[in-house]
Amino acid sequence: MDNKICPHCGIEMSQYQGLTLPDTTPSAGDIIICAACLNLSIYDKDLNLTKPDESILKEMPKEFKEDLDLIIKNLKKQNEQR
Ligand SMILES: [Zn+2]
Repeated sequence: MDNKICPHCGIEMSQYQGLTLPDTTPSAGDIIICAACLNLSIYDKDLNLTKPDESILKEMPKEFKEDLDLIIKNLKKQNEQR
């Protein structure tokens, strides 16, 4: 896949790891977490990364949001151990 730029911190993301499937390819509407700044980004229809707007975050199912929070927490821990 093409490298994507994090819309939050500007880092180039060259790896994509799915939350549920190990080798999935991104599709429109997918949410990813930047490993550098731990902010959420979302793929638009052209597969460019954009900042999710508030309504998307609000519409997120609670369980999904909790999963995301857990992943972010773990990533934070990893970053601190480096
Ligand atoms: Zn970032």
